[in-house]
Amino acid sequence: MVDKPIFEFINRPDHKRGVVGIPINVKSPTLGLYMASGAEYPPGQEMAANQYLHHNYTAPPGAASKLYFSLIFQLPKWGFYMEKPDEWIEVHPTHREYYERTMATKQMLEGIIKSGLKSAAESVADYELIAHDVRKYAEILSYFASKNEHLLRSMFIDQVDVHTGEGISMRSIVPRWPTIISDFMRLSSEDDKDNTPDVIKDRYNVSRAEGVILKTKNDLFKEWRKMFKEAALERYERLKMLMKAREKTIKEYKEWLRPHIGRFKMTRLGAERPGVRSELMGRDEAGLLGVTGLSTYKNVIRLWAWRPVFSSEHRKPAAELKDRGFVVYPYDNWIRENLIINKRTGLSNIYPYLATDKNQCTNNKCRKFFNHELNRCPHCNSVSYVVRKYADELVENQILPLWPKKAKGLDPTQLYYVFQDYEIKRVGFKLPTGELDDVTFYMKNFTVTQNILLVKLLELKCREMELEKYIDQLLGHKTEEDLTISELVKKDFPGLFGKAPKEDTFVEKLKKDWNNLWRPYRKTIKGIRLPKTGLMFVKPGPYERDFSERIKKQYLTESANLHKQVHDWIIGKMGMP
Ligand SMILES: [Zn+2]
Repeated sequence: MVDKPIFEFINRPDHKRGVVGIPINVKSPTLGLYMASGAEYPPGQEMAANQYLHHNYTAPPGAASKLYFSLIFQLPKWGFYMEKPDEWIEVHPTHREYYERTMATKQMLEGIIKSGLKSAAESVADYELIAHDVRKYAEILSYFASKNEHLLRSMFIDQVDVHTGEGISMRSIVPRWPTIISDFMRLSSEDDKDNTPDVIKDRYNVSRAEGVILKTKNDLFKEWRKMFKEAALERYERLKMLMKAREKTIKEYKEWLRPHIGRFKMTRLGAERPGVRSELMGRDEAGLLGVTGLSTYKNVIRLWAWRPVFSSEHRKPAAELKDRGFVVYPYDNWIRENLIINKRTGLSNIYPYLATDKNQCTNNKCRKFFNHELNRCPHCNSVSYVVRKYADELVENQILPLWPKKAKGLDPTQLYYVFQDYEIKRVGFKLPTGELDDVTFYMKNFTVTQNILLVKLLELKCREMELEKYIDQLLGHKTEEDLTISELVKKDFPGLFGKAPKEDTFVEKLKKDWNNLWRPYRKTIKGIRLPKTGLMFVKPGPYERDFSERIKKQYLTESANLHKQVHDWIIGKMGMP
């Protein structure tokens, strides 16, 4: 569904060849910081293939697919939670009937998407118009916020006073009093200044008659300014509300379009799909099928299933959730720096936006993330913040909260999980004797620590966002940028939003300077690494390190049983002994 490679479990990274992923580390000094144990190589290359499964089954049409659906219903019964990170269907023109049927479905989907996009695009256009007005009013309001008298006075002369007519408007009486406009611009709006014709006459050295006119015009200006500010604020608020409503409509269209676009992107005719096929299983029977030219369709489903591995040790007393509601906090620095935000070795290699800077408010009641460009939290106006990454925002706001809720098969009291990575391939054949359905189950069974599962959950989130981004591109609509505009408006005119109308205070300046001062050092400090001696790994990380004894006995035995369970079940369903 998404044209991005999977962040695979790998034997070792090879950055020159662009091989990035999660290194299997049972023999590595990183054991303890995390664990990823399982099949390291693709089939055919795998030596100790005990955590790897490969079953092929050919049957009359429909029978093989039935096997797939049975598995989907069976896995939850064994306590697994499932997600589908990828799926695609490829149809070959060799089978005319099937090809035409798929083509028709694809065209139908295209039609639905196009008409949906058209309606959505109208909403986007509406939204843009309103957004334009919002910006215009925001600018006007900024004159008030910044007390820009000069601009307001010229606005009054050109757009209000001019309509009072010949002989009355300032523009029309300039021939009689040539300095009237410049005098008016200099007048004070404060109630105790320039409040009588005589005061004006003396202060600006004008005739009393001009003083009378200036006093009247100044009163009118002050009255207009008050009314205009109220009207502009009201209009601004109403436009903002309209903008929100349109935003909601666009969101609804997107919700509605998402599954159609997902299906559309999944269906490829012939060899349409770019070469992002997973390298997980390495071998492909494409050569065989290509030569015989008999295949009618190919459907590849990537499926991830996981559940905690309960230690085989005698039940310990309930684990203590002492680290922020976890036995061990799953989002540790090592995982964050090496497998997430590092652009060479981490998930950011595939999704670079994970490593973009974000500010996080340090006000304990707020702690919200905001645009890195801003120097003040738009949610609570606090000027104290730390520079973090977009990945931190996603993990802390959307992934970590799943644990305490025990959502998606997670459990805060469990540190180890079995992670089954399936690739299920359905292929249709047409033979002179009739049609056949062929299904292949590839499965790799991994035992991982919770922080590795966190990386996989973040990857799923990124893949979801990719589809979102694609729909946004189709619509020409960027919600994030809109967010930035409203954040900017709030930042530019904090005085208009009820709170803290102050300018950059001394403290704020200090804070800003401090942040700038600190930034380069922070990098240097991070750059300091301990020499790679055996000493460095005396006790790295909170996870189990004794592979041959404790890990094998406590976790891998249980994990292997779960692997065997799937193996036996598939074999049984296929009707083999
Ligand atoms: Zn805040």
